[in-house]
Amino acid sequence: MIHRSPLEDLDIPKCNVLDYLYPKNAPVSNDPIWFDAAKFDINVSPLKMLSWIKRLIMGLDKLGLQKGDVCLIHTPNHVLVPAAYLGIVGGGRCFSAINPIYTVEEIVHQMKLTNAKCLLSHPSLIERDLEAAKKAGTLSKDQIFQFNDDPEPCKEKLGVKDWRYMIASEKEAENFRWRALGREESEKTIATINFSSGTTGMPKGVMISHHALIANVAQTAKIRWPDKDFDRGDTVEDERWIGFLPLYHAYGQMYANLMSCKFHVPIYIMRQFVYTDYLKCIQEARITDLQVAPPILVMLAKRPETKNYDLSSIRTILSGGAPLGKELQNEVARRFNCEVKQGWGMTEVTCGSILQIEPKDNGTIGRLIPNNQMKLIDDDDKEVGFDTPGEMLIKAPNVMLGYWKNEQATKDTFTSDGWLKTGDVAVINKEGYIWIVDRKKELIKVNALQVAPAELEAQLLENDAVADAAAVGITVHDEEYPRAYIVLTDEAKKAKVTPKQIQDWFKPRVAKHKALVGGVKIVDEIPKLQSGKIQRKILRDWSKRDAAEV
Ligand code: AMP
Repeated sequence: MIHRSPLEDLDIPKCNVLDYLYPKNAPVSNDPIWFDAAKFDINVSPLKMLSWIKRLIMGLDKLGLQKGDVCLIHTPNHVLVPAAYLGIVGGGRCFSAINPIYTVEEIVHQMKLTNAKCLLSHPSLIERDLEAAKKAGTLSKDQIFQFNDDPEPCKEKLGVKDWRYMIASEKEAENFRWRALGREESEKTIATINFSSGTTGMPKGVMISHHALIANVAQTAKIRWPDKDFDRGDTVEDERWIGFLPLYHAYGQMYANLMSCKFHVPIYIMRQFVYTDYLKCIQEARITDLQVAPPILVMLAKRPETKNYDLSSIRTILSGGAPLGKELQNEVARRFNCEVKQGWGMTEVTCGSILQIEPKDNGTIGRLIPNNQMKLIDDDDKEVGFDTPGEMLIKAPNVMLGYWKNEQATKDTFTSDGWLKTGDVAVINKEGYIWIVDRKKELIKVNALQVAPAELEAQLLENDAVADAAAVGITVHDEEYPRAYIVLTDEAKKAKVTPKQIQDWFKPRVAKHKALVGGVKIVDEIPKLQSGKIQRKILRDWSKRDAAEV
């Protein structure tokens, strides 16, 4: 049975995403909408942003970047990150962002996999990026630029120039117009490559087209503002958002780079997340809507500092990226006298496919957004009906094109008739409300960020003491953490290597959220099928059993 959105399908434009955000001949506002959350006088208007975007497109042209080339960015959030995103994408190139806390090895992996032709690197990350570039051997110094929002260009550092020496001047860019994309090109041209491990294996580049980005913006807007007709000139009044979500992730990109730009909603961008700074900004900027992941709701509900701030301006909170319990949802809604809505998304569907429309649906992840179809299947690939759990399959214009340079993974992730396998197990009732009830895929979600067990396992096997390893998530007090089961080599057994030693060795080798905070346990054997495939279900049972002991 195919399930559809309760809302009518939308007619989604097929063009360059930049033409969607900045239609030709439409007036462009000079009222700022991107604000620095700590210093409101650092801000950028759509007009100013457009100038940065055009200057960057021209600069990348001059640098020799072709359509379809990847341009990496490695930076904490700041008000000019949307310029990099839209400049790279609008010029027909692929935007891919590196997590600022990645280790050199993790950066090398992304550089090699994307074969990027340019890197915009924050001054604080230059050393790490140069080391990675040398190891990867794919980027030379003259393809790397310091990227920040300082009023003046940064001084050259280790031979790396400021990006403002690469881009065109304001004057040169004045009458520039980027290349439009035809309908088919809009569907086929890759705009972004964010990373996800999908249902199995190592992180892979998710290819999202211009059309998919536009679709997801239009669909989200329909749910957020159902009564508005933007084609007829309706506007969003009196909303203010705060952008702490990382801009290397699809969720952050959707609101700070796309939605705010399209609908002119001011967004206060945080360089890094500090809870009290977050509260202060909400109070001072009178923020009306929050986009968060569940850990923030836990903070709002439980942290004592919360009550020191006036948060009465908050009207709605959207939570996504990880499961949200109904009690917490209701508690926060009561406490702040606001609506708390849940959404479900995944990097492979651009950002979101399911959103809660009304508060009375608390506890569900909501209903399908326009132009999205869903099917649920059991372990034998048979469709299941209402109120029965099954793996969720999605078909929609916001679904990815596939995985970057990985045909096999793409083939494995789509059914032969084009449905995306999400790896999430859901239930739908007759009214179209959906619940996530289990996860079939290998993914671990830490603080709503992805951690791929395969990546942890590959790293663990680098340790001479480890003969075999398997990683899985362990859930303690509603939070998920990476946990490993390892088999020691005979020598390591004799030397009495401890789990703590393995944990400590592991920690500096990966980004913080991948550390084995959920513990390491030594076992005699990793449960495997004859084919050598790890039996993930048994691992999940082990981790549930061990969680009960914590
Ligand atoms: P990402 O690609 O990083 O956005 O992660 C996507 C995955 O996060 C989904 O496939 C789910 O496993 C999980 N996820 C996202 N939103 C929710 C939600 N509301 N409830 C449960 N799991 C979620």
